[in-house]
Parts: sequence; structure tokens; C-alpha cells
Amino acid sequence: MSSLQLKEVNLETLNKAIDGVIYEELNSTLLYYLQSCVNCKACEAGCPFVPTSLKYSPVNKAEIARQLYRYRFSIWGKTVGRAIGGSKKYLKLDEAETMIDYIWHCVNCGSCMFVCPMAIDSGALIDLLRKIAFKAGMVPKVIADIEMLENSGDYLKISSFMDAWNSTIDKIKEAIGRDVPLDKKGSEILLYASIYDVLTYSDVIVKTAKILDLLKKDWTFMSKPLGIRPPLGLVLGDPVGAIKVMEKIRSYFKEISPKYIVLISGGYEYPGDSGFHCELKYPDMN
Ligand code: SF4
Ligand code: SF4
Repeated sequence: MSSLQLKEVNLETLNKAIDGVIYEELNSTLLYYLQSCVNCKACEAGCPFVPTSLKYSPVNKAEIARQLYRYRFSIWGKTVGRAIGGSKKYLKLDEAETMIDYIWHCVNCGSCMFVCPMAIDSGALIDLLRKIAFKAGMVPKVIADIEMLENSGDYLKISSFMDAWNSTIDKIKEAIGRDVPLDKKGSEILLYASIYDVLTYSDVIVKTAKILDLLKKDWTFMSKPLGIRPPLGLVLGDPVGAIKVMEKIRSYFKEISPKYIVLISGGYEYPGDSGFHCELKYPDMN
């Protein structure tokens, strides 16, 4: 069980969430991922969590999604699978706790897909489980609270967050020896960061700004953060919340209309035209 505090698991709510997600979210790509695994275990080599335990192998974590799928949609799952445990209608309490453990041991990095001979994205199947957990309210309270702050914009009222942000702007000013260009529309480059970035990589942001300035680039930074670690909804299995936050970011990108956006970290959370199970469009960044 995760050491992060969870609300008590309500099995009835969980069952409804399983039915809701399995019947509503399946699409042709997920069906391919669910049906095409040859159990070769090549994906084990790609997952950053496998060195901690083999139980975190991508195929093992995704197996819960396959069991729920087989029970409802495959002949084998409706017959033999039910008898030998290869398919499951719902999860028992200990199985629900195992699911929670598994979904918090996947960062949706996509590595498993690149080493899989069938190009199966186990992360997408684990994401289905994440959506089930979110619908059932089985998310760590601290992360759910932070997501709520991000979605509502109330993180802007938290003084420690804003102090860290403003202090980074002050450090950039000191490093470049002039006022920081903020929210400058039409800049060639937007230096993008989140609250998480300023709390963890403040120096990297300052040095990147200095490099852009030394190169005499036309760049700008943001006067205010657009999220804590946006979109946290993606991490929690809340696509609605994630899209809300990403739409806000998208509209800022549109307003500034930079030619390039420089990210301090990650990038997986800001896909292009599609991907990561959110359909989002961005201005031309090429
Ligand atoms: S590498 Fe692909 S086919 Fe092999 S076990 Fe993993 S998901 Fe299944
Ligand atoms: S997407 Fe998840 S399961 Fe796949 S390699 Fe990354 S962390 Fe592991």
C-alpha cells in the first residue's frame, strides 16, 4: 500500500468506476494494446521501476487492465479466464490496493513502448487504471489537494510559491543586469517554467535566461506561473482537470505567440497535436 494517505476504499464506488472507465474509455488503440501482448517481457528492460521490483514490470502492472477487459469482452475471459483468475469483473480490496501501488509506479515515460516488439504502450493501460482510481476517489489526498489548487488557480495565493517565483525573477535580473522581459508578446523565445521548476531548478532557469541573453535572443519569461506542475490532472487520471489547465497554458502560448518555447524540464506533458491521451492543439512552435 502506498505510504501516501488515501481515503478509505469504497468497493461499490470502485466497481462503478471500473465499469465507467472500461466501457467508456476503450478505443481502437487501447484494444490493440490490450489484445496484442505476447508476454515476452521485453518491456521489463525499459521501465525505470523494474530494478526496484519485478512486480513493477510494465506487463505485470497492465495485467489488471487486461483482466478487467477480458472478463467483459473476450470469449476466453468470459469462460476459462473467470475460472482460473485470468479475468476479473471487479477487484477485491487487496487487489485494489495493488492497483494503487502499481499506478504510482509508472511515470508514463513511454520507454516500455519503445522496447516492445508489438509497440504496446503499457503506460496507456496503466493510465486506464489511474482513471479508475481517480473516479473512485482513490488518490493520495495531498496530491488531490495540490491538483485542486492548480485547477482553481488558487496556487497564486500561496505566498511561498509566489515568493519562489518572484525570487527567481529577481535572480534572473541580477544575472542579466537588466529588467527581465516579462510576458512580451511576439518574442522569438518563451522561457517556460512551473512552480515545481522554480522550487527545484531555480538555478537552471536563471542560467538558461542568462544564456539566451548572452546570445542576444529575443526572449521573454512569465510574470506569473501557469501551474504547479501542470497538468497534475494527467498524473492523477483526471483528463478533464488536465485539459482545463492545459487550455490555460495554450491560451498564454497563443497570446505570446513565440517561435520557440524552451522548457526547463520534462516535455512529455506537453505533447504536440495529440498523445498522452489528451487531444490538445498548440500554436506552431517549429
Ligand atoms: S514487451 Fe510488449 S509484448 Fe512483450 S510482454 Fe511487454 S507489453 Fe507484452
Ligand atoms: S510508461 Fe510506465 S510502465 Fe512503461 S516504462 Fe514508463 S514507467 Fe514503466
